[in-house]
Amino acid sequence: MKTILRNGTMLLPGRKVAAGDVVIGEDGRIESVGASREEPDGAAAVDCSGKLVMPGFVNCHGHTAMTLVRGLGGGLPLKRWLEEAIFPVEAKMTPADVYAGARWGILEMFAGGTTTVADMYDFPGDGTGRALLEAGMRGRVSRVGLSFVEGRLDDCVTFTRDWNSGHAPSLVEADICIHSEYLTDEKFCRALADANRWLKRPLHVHVSETKREHEECIGRHGKTPIAYLADTGILDFGGYAAHCVHCTDDDFRIMAEHGVSLVHNPTSNMKLGSGFARIRRAMELGVNVALGTDGCASNDNLDMFEEMHLASLIHKGLASDPTVLQPWDVVEMATLNGAKALGMESETGSIEVGKSADLAIVDLSAPHLVPCLDVANLAVHSMQASDVVATYVAGRCVYEKSKPVSDDVRNGFLAAVARLGLIRS
Ligand SMILES: [Zn+2]
Repeated sequence: MKTILRNGTMLLPGRKVAAGDVVIGEDGRIESVGASREEPDGAAAVDCSGKLVMPGFVNCHGHTAMTLVRGLGGGLPLKRWLEEAIFPVEAKMTPADVYAGARWGILEMFAGGTTTVADMYDFPGDGTGRALLEAGMRGRVSRVGLSFVEGRLDDCVTFTRDWNSGHAPSLVEADICIHSEYLTDEKFCRALADANRWLKRPLHVHVSETKREHEECIGRHGKTPIAYLADTGILDFGGYAAHCVHCTDDDFRIMAEHGVSLVHNPTSNMKLGSGFARIRRAMELGVNVALGTDGCASNDNLDMFEEMHLASLIHKGLASDPTVLQPWDVVEMATLNGAKALGMESETGSIEVGKSADLAIVDLSAPHLVPCLDVANLAVHSMQASDVVATYVAGRCVYEKSKPVSDDVRNGFLAAVARLGLIRS
């Protein structure tokens, strides 16, 4: 059945705002966008008057199942945070735990208008991939490359190949991934790059998150992490690099050349005291900049409105210049640029005829959203995840604020947190 989202305020491509209808065809794609008209026979009409209809967010860097360890290890620097707080709990996680954590994270993302996530975590198939497919969320999953885990290289190649051949065409695809330069050796990177000549997938990776990591890479290889990764061939099919806080201008030039997007994670970078990515310079040098939440232990939520808000504010503050990053620049970072980073711009990221109907509907009646003088500014600086009233992926309504959270998902999640020894059951 067709769905018609009637009489909403729409955030449209070309930085336009218009009032009208979005008609979603039976195939889940946007069939028309325009002035309000009578609903076609047999269409399900959803009244969107007083509401914003916007593209769903593309969260380009997350570890969805880290909802299980939300807030764990707060106050520690990155290396100690990973080694003392996070890794010991992650070592105990089973595919069932990751599945339960991912289901909970997906709920949180849907409730905040996010329709796509690029995830990097253990158990990408039985855990996160399964949860994404069941929930109907668009995503990218990846087997995380770590050279100290025996057999991991073969796992990475096999998982990527088998997932994509077994699930295509699908909402969820697999990309290649290494955790970072510092957790994979050169042999691993070169071997994965060789295998990727056949897989032909972009790379999901953490890059230059801390100064120490960036400098240690120069000590090991005589090159920055980005220059080193480019030399191994692992960026030959593009990629999306989280953080890039300490990247140089030359790094940005290499990223632009290789089609590697910068995924900015402002909350995570501030919470872990990593610094501020120079995203304006990256943009000037032709790098596509998208946004991500990172995981729930360094954020501690999956709220893309908050990432937009912080991204907008910190770069104005840093530059002592309020003209830096206009609201629409930030909205696009969270939507269309994210779709570009994942090579999905023909599928999602904007409200356009022919694209998949991946949409968020936001109630504009809350006190903090009145008056609505500039919708993009309001979206970046005033809206909260809790203002989202419905979320659609591929034309299917995956979230309605008025409906209670499933007991099954909640109980499964809390049982997993208890199993990991983090709370009493
Ligand atoms: Zn991360």
